[in-house]
Amino acid sequence: PLKLQNISSRVKGTLPKNALEYLKEIGELAKSMGYNAYLVGGIIRDIILGWENLDIDIVIEGDGIVFAKEFAKIKQAKVATHERFKTATLVMKDGMRIDIATAREEYYDLPGALPVVEKSSIKLDLYRRDFTINALAMKLHDEFGDLLDFFGGLNDIKNKKIRVLHMLSFVDDPTRMYRAVRFAARLGFDIGQQTDRLIKVAVELGIVNKVEKIRIFNEIVHILNNDNVKSSFEMLKSYRLIRTLDNKLIIDDRILSYIDEAEEIVKSCSIFCKNKKIKRERVFLILLEYLFGKSTSFSKAVGADDQTYEFVKNTSKKIPIANGILSKKNVNDLEIYEALSKIPLEGILALYPLTKEKERLIRYLEDLMHREPIIKGKDLIKLGFKPSKIFGQMINDIFKQQLLGKIKDKIEAIKYIEENYKNANNKDKSSELANRQM
Ligand code: ATP
Repeated sequence: PLKLQNISSRVKGTLPKNALEYLKEIGELAKSMGYNAYLVGGIIRDIILGWENLDIDIVIEGDGIVFAKEFAKIKQAKVATHERFKTATLVMKDGMRIDIATAREEYYDLPGALPVVEKSSIKLDLYRRDFTINALAMKLHDEFGDLLDFFGGLNDIKNKKIRVLHMLSFVDDPTRMYRAVRFAARLGFDIGQQTDRLIKVAVELGIVNKVEKIRIFNEIVHILNNDNVKSSFEMLKSYRLIRTLDNKLIIDDRILSYIDEAEEIVKSCSIFCKNKKIKRERVFLILLEYLFGKSTSFSKAVGADDQTYEFVKNTSKKIPIANGILSKKNVNDLEIYEALSKIPLEGILALYPLTKEKERLIRYLEDLMHREPIIKGKDLIKLGFKPSKIFGQMINDIFKQQLLGKIKDKIEAIKYIEENYKNANNKDKSSELANRQM
């Protein structure tokens, strides 16, 4: 039964002003065109939960493309249309993105195949969605803020339940099983009893193998990019959602505890790593690639694209060597730097759970990784050297001395140059080496 409730005051409380303004204007334009317009999807769930979400997804009962073009014209926005799916993306003048779709029903010819698109009503559009909590819509064209809750989504948000809309949901799209895990971990919700049973049956039937692997991989990437990776993997383990992809991928407690440690270091990296950006999911992929390395390729088995697979495989191969150096007795900072700086940062983070020398690794992340040569090319020019090939060597040499702790500042660096490069053959004789006003 459709329960009516108006959430416009919550919308005002959670959305930024410009977004709210756009929603009102979308409603007004739709009304004037004789269309109905709804805000749908995850954003409604998050508005109810009071969480920030700027994914504005609109569904139009009518022609979504005609509507999008009209709205773009009025607002002088950029619009890109996808005729086949009857959808459009708007980029507003202030940069905000708005996705517009045409209310549709999807027919799945085969499990996991691309849907065939037909025009239809909002209820059918919502019915094709993954979970009740994501299948809420809010009216924009009339009674702004009225909630359309055909499937009990509001109650499920209140009771913290992930529930599918119908028995065949996982047959229609097996990637939803991974989505169920993702939302459960992210929102701290439970998977409903019936839904839980449906996942178990679907896994038993091997339905997962009917989907394009890359779609599963994309969901796994989402899981790895959310917090609570460990609890996600506990769920994936209990549903055998990884093992169903490759029988050798047995997630055990040892693997779970490595994942836990990786998650810890990834979080710290937001502080340690300063401005260095990482692709978070790759840390876990490298770690798992390494852990399963002897029996199978984790990333390949979970459907990684070629580029990711190559990166993950190559980086995971470097782990034992790096760990060897890190574990060497009396290793110095230069050796640590030389070994670790050759490896992408994601690989270094993946090494953290595996190595016994965690303090040394942290030292690299906090300090060594950020070191830079004190002396640069322009300094050498000021010292009277003519630019040449040996610049690189000199800079590198001095940088090494820095890492060994033998050079601490510019003055010491210049002294070192005087002592070691006096006879550098490209020295410009007219200029004074001791020009220390650098
Ligand atoms: P997030 O905040 O992580 O983006 P979201 O709920 O917005 O979460 P998306 O993956 O961006 O999730 O998808 C947007 C909406 O599209 C969902 O809320 C859901 O209604 C629908 N959806 C996405 N993927 C599927 C799917 N595989 N099956 C059914 N519906 C889906």
